[in-house]
Amino acid sequence: MKLPPFEYACPATINEAVALLANHGGEAKLLAGGQSLMPMMAFRIAQPSLLVDLRKLPGLKEIKIGADGVRLGALVRWRDILDDRRLSTAHPLLQEAVSHVAHYQIRNRGTVGGSLAHADPASEMPGIAQTCDAEIAVTGKAGARIIKGADFFKGALTTALEPDEIITEVHLPAWPAARRYGFQEFARRRGDFAMAGAALYYDTDGGKASNAHVGVFGVGDCQRRLAKAEGALNGHTVDEMLAVKVGEAAAAEVEPQEDIHASAVYRRALTGTLTERALKAAAAR
Ligand SMILES: Cc1cc2nc3c(=O)[nH]c(=O)nc-3n(C[C@H](O)[C@H](O)[C@H](O)COP(=O)(O)OP(=O)(O)OC[C@H]3O[C@@H](n4cnc5c(N)ncnc54)[C@H](O)[C@@H]3O)c2cc1C
Repeated sequence: MKLPPFEYACPATINEAVALLANHGGEAKLLAGGQSLMPMMAFRIAQPSLLVDLRKLPGLKEIKIGADGVRLGALVRWRDILDDRRLSTAHPLLQEAVSHVAHYQIRNRGTVGGSLAHADPASEMPGIAQTCDAEIAVTGKAGARIIKGADFFKGALTTALEPDEIITEVHLPAWPAARRYGFQEFARRRGDFAMAGAALYYDTDGGKASNAHVGVFGVGDCQRRLAKAEGALNGHTVDEMLAVKVGEAAAAEVEPQEDIHASAVYRRALTGTLTERALKAAAAR
């Protein structure tokens, strides 16, 4: 389908890009990889009068790894994450999650910032941002600010971003070498959006799980952590029985939606099974 008409700008600085957004009062849209925005425009779900291309903005394509964790520039693509060998130890859960994102061509263009801003409830990256205590750096007319992952997602395709704000970087806290993690999702075909998914990790303290983080995506109107499932995991030795219990807690805690792909009942059961499997995989590492 043909796109609706639009003006195009390709600024060289973040300030210039912010000014373009601010001057168009919500009628302008940023263009990163275009893998969500272009289909939205083709279907007339979005009809911006101006596209502000981010590709020339400096410093947004880097993956920085330091003692405080991983910093992903907003224009880091899925391909860059998968190709970066440092991430296999610096953030293995991120790499595993991204290996499930879309197909080859889309992974060559889709970006971290675009995925977070688009906030599709079935996307992996917002799930990682929620589960892993991410901090999202944004810059707008009022200056720069940090938004916690837990405060960033407000619902399906809705975030805490102001219309003149640009995501510049995502920070994921440091990943201890001994941390256990698991990631599971179910989609009709590999690369399709997940019908449901679970990402989790925990540390161990005297052989028992501590600092449990259990997150789900594709279930309900946005990615979220599951406090009751985390409570069922913390302070316990992880074995098959506990994995079943935590899976049951997760299934009970979600508020699944019904759509053409699956009923709410099915999604609830899927959430339980995927959480159980993710926990078993974590324990087996
Ligand atoms: C067939 C298909 C299958 C897919 N499967 C999956 C999948 O399984 N999992 C998955 O997670 N994704 C999937 N995607 C989506 C893909 O990962 C997209 O790349 C991603 O969601 C958006 O990234 P983008 O860089 O393409 O953003 P764009 O499409 O360029 O932009 C998306 C939105 O974010 C805004 N935006 C972009 N960058 C910024 C920024 N830095 N700051 C603020 N706002 C910004 C744009 O204005 C726009 O509103 C799929 C896409 C397709 C076409």
